Amino acid sequence: MTVIERVDIAPRTGGFVRVAAGRLVTVVDVDGGQVADLYAWSADDPTEYLSAQHTRAITDSLFPAVGDDFYTNRRRPILHFERDDTPGVHDMLIASCDAERYALLGCDPDHASCSDNFRAAMAASGIGDPGFTPQSVNLFMAIPVDADGGLSWEPAVTRPGDSLTLRALMDCVIVVSACPQDVIPINNLDPTRVAIEVRDQ
Ligand SMILES: [Zn+2]
Repeated sequence: MTVIERVDIAPRTGGFVRVAAGRLVTVVDVDGGQVADLYAWSADDPTEYLSAQHTRAITDSLFPAVGDDFYTNRRRPILHFERDDTPGVHDMLIASCDAERYALLGCDPDHASCSDNFRAAMAASGIGDPGFTPQSVNLFMAIPVDADGGLSWEPAVTRPGDSLTLRALMDCVIVVSACPQDVIPINNLDPTRVAIEVRDQ
């Protein structure tokens, strides 16, 4: 496989790639211990996008795993989970961080957020800012569920260079945010870099 495009995403920021159906997209946790919020949007229909809640309803699972497809809000497959070179811990329950989340945590009003990163990347992609942020798939994020249904927020366990690979099942824009959360320990209190690589077959 040949890398035909690489987008390096600085800590606390976002990036995007446009991919044709069939392309492979690798998301890399460059420094390790970093959550990457993932979004995918149909290139042909500005109202169709990857939906974590619709995905859970089809995969019958709270969390994604190799072999699963990710589905849109129209219940069509948009991405396939092709390969996982990480410890295999990812989240599909938690909403992206946003300005309101940081306000509740007592942060400055201008604290970076995955929601802002997503909407800026969508505007830059040419599709346009949709005006809202769908629930992300939170790659490398550790949110274990206990027997009573309780959630806990754990530090990401990925190592430097860990990655996973997705296959686009429709022409789409894929947005990734290097989560800027530095108040609770999901990024080990030290937000770092991620990268997106597009590969041919
Ligand atoms: Zn975030």
